[in-house]
Amino acid sequence: MTTEEVRRIFEELIGREKYEKFISALHNPSRTRGRMKFWQEKLWNQFCSETGYPETSYEDITKLFDYCLIHNQEFRADIVPVVYGTFEQEPKEKQFIKDNNFPYAALQVKRGGPAEAETETTVKYCIECRKAYKSVWPTLCSNTAVITEKF
Ligand SMILES: [Zn+2]
Repeated sequence: MTTEEVRRIFEELIGREKYEKFISALHNPSRTRGRMKFWQEKLWNQFCSETGYPETSYEDITKLFDYCLIHNQEFRADIVPVVYGTFEQEPKEKQFIKDNNFPYAALQVKRGGPAEAETETTVKYCIECRKAYKSVWPTLCSNTAVITEKF
């Protein structure tokens, strides 16, 4: 089975909504602490038993789904600035637009708290997300500025 086939068949099996939830959880490793949650394991085991797909490590599963669902683009790696400070919660409307148009622009990484030595870090990003981001908020394209704009 190719990666594309795994994605397509898994999505057909569990439905779009669960598929999106499954992948979104994989893309947030801080929330999953490097392993799948119970409900994810259940879905994945269902896929394996129905298709005969071999047992897969967590790392290999994350690689299978390392792509942007919205743009169907494989993630690429980039080095971006780390910005330290206290950040306000994004307004809901703005978060909604981000989540639905360019969730993986990843132009910078925000870290709470005082500045530390690390000024850059590696991220995964989607090239189409970055294009969408830049077309929506041209003023936000600076890699170095802390985002403080009002929506
Ligand atoms: Zn994207």
